[in-house]
Amino acid sequence: MITRFAPSPTGPLHLGHAYSALLAHDMARAAGGAFHLRIEDTDTERCRPEWEALIFEDMEWLGLTWEQPVLRQSEHLDSYNATLLRLADRGLLYPCSCSRSAIRAAMSAPQEGVPAAESYPGTCRPRPMSDRKPGDALRLNMAKAVARTGPMTFTETGPKHAATHRVDPDRLVAEIGDAVLGRKEIETVSYVLAAVIDDAGQGMTDIIRGEDLWQITFLQVLLQNLLDLPTPRYHHHVLIRDETGKRLAKRDDARAIRTYRDNGASPEDIRRMVGL
Ligand code: GLU
Repeated sequence: MITRFAPSPTGPLHLGHAYSALLAHDMARAAGGAFHLRIEDTDTERCRPEWEALIFEDMEWLGLTWEQPVLRQSEHLDSYNATLLRLADRGLLYPCSCSRSAIRAAMSAPQEGVPAAESYPGTCRPRPMSDRKPGDALRLNMAKAVARTGPMTFTETGPKHAATHRVDPDRLVAEIGDAVLGRKEIETVSYVLAAVIDDAGQGMTDIIRGEDLWQITFLQVLLQNLLDLPTPRYHHHVLIRDETGKRLAKRDDARAIRTYRDNGASPEDIRRMVGL
């Protein structure tokens, strides 16, 4: 088993991250496998070196060990862009001058489900790549993409959706639609694409992560298919929620691992709090 914890350094790690990291680490150790830490810092506007430093401190404090070297995505932008251009050369991408917030959203992992396909009306779909203007996003033409793939399946072992799932092309078109994959002029790729490239490049056999990334898995399996990359096994774990049932957010400093550390909690206390 080769698995990873892949945080984005956009804020302090909280109990939800601790659960994800501990679970992936424990599952890898139990299987005699490898556990990686990957820094997903392609969103240069939101990622900060101080948050990255805190990730290492928190992980060490939790008693975790991981493979070296640590992959930092910001050091591999050229290779992500080469992949993006390969998709463009196959006629699968088009430039889109959609709103900044849509582009912004694609740069990081979705937090509460993926943006619905119907929220994008397809205005720019007929535009050729040669018409690309500064500031344009690059969108995947989903209808064309699904026409280029064979049957797609993946295995999920998490508590909620455990089964072998078929990726239905019609649902990809209707529910995910023309996803934003990049933003060429500032050399930034979306979270979905960078993660797919690295999961394959690092030989991940198992992706262990929060249930908030369940829906995006269907898009990631499609991208693996388009790029001839292997599909790993997936395990989406339950999310750690606050007393009101809300998913913990990065700005929720009260549940930051650092705050527990500063208040004298032990790594065992954290394990207990997340139910491990
Ligand atoms: N970087 C993503 C996040 O912080 C995790 C992506 C993944 O595990 O696939 O939510």
